[in-house]
Amino acid sequence: MTAKPRPARGGKGFHAKQALGQHFLSDTSLLDELVAASGLGTGDRVFEIGPGLGALTEALLRAGCRVLAMEVDPQLIPVLRVTLHGYEGVEVIEGDVMAPGLEKKLDPLGPFHIAANLPYYITTPIMNRLLSLKLPLLSINVMVQTEAAERLVAGPSTPAYGPLALLSAYRTEPKVVRIIGADKFTPPPKCDSAFVTMRIREKPPVETEEGRLFRLIETGFRMRRKTLLNNLMPAYALSREAAEAALKQAGLPAGVRGEALSLEEYARLADILG
Ligand code: SAM
Repeated sequence: MTAKPRPARGGKGFHAKQALGQHFLSDTSLLDELVAASGLGTGDRVFEIGPGLGALTEALLRAGCRVLAMEVDPQLIPVLRVTLHGYEGVEVIEGDVMAPGLEKKLDPLGPFHIAANLPYYITTPIMNRLLSLKLPLLSINVMVQTEAAERLVAGPSTPAYGPLALLSAYRTEPKVVRIIGADKFTPPPKCDSAFVTMRIREKPPVETEEGRLFRLIETGFRMRRKTLLNNLMPAYALSREAAEAALKQAGLPAGVRGEALSLEEYARLADILG
């Protein structure tokens, strides 16, 4: 039997703030299943972004994780202190995950996992940040809107494919493990969500200089409707002939668009362009 969603427990006078992406989960059996699907358990160190009312935090603690939770809404800090009272191995800090100095705050954790029901209004910036900062990450396990999940797992020549999908494939092995209906959240968001697990790779699947690779990816998607050739020429100060020759050497047709290239093809072309 699955537990019924409980109403948001914010105490008297607390109203969920849409501007902060506050859509709370409370179904404990669902949360326990998501933590289990993340493979998180005893002794794992977890950084939780946006603990809200603390339901996912409690599920992580029930599984035996040690949790550092960062919440931006000061009104939720006293609520969390009450909810999490009596648990060991949990620290709640007030803060914005997008603010400078995150690496320093996370340093005492050592290698760690991320778990979150992400605030939807900044999902992409948060994911870009987590995947770009040099953090000692082991895995990222996040609830995001289905559209954002597609941007994390998309393959070439699909509408959701872009720099984030390539960054995510470069650093992780992303998997959508479950779709969660909007009715599981209080208040319910406009669309369904997906729970995505991303194991961090020990080494990237392609061997090329990272700065070079991501400069090219950024160029490839700069003007999505243009051909890669037309994006390459101004960005790399290349003549048409030189850009065509580079594409040919990489085994790519002259009229190819950036959205059609796989990570391996981007890496090959990045090595040629230098
Ligand atoms: N984890 C809770 C749950 O599953 O019920 C709440 C998830 S709710 C979708 C997102 C949470 O992230 C809210 O508590 C919100 O206040 C918090 N939040 C929003 N922006 C944030 C930011 N920049 N840094 C840290 N937390 C943030």
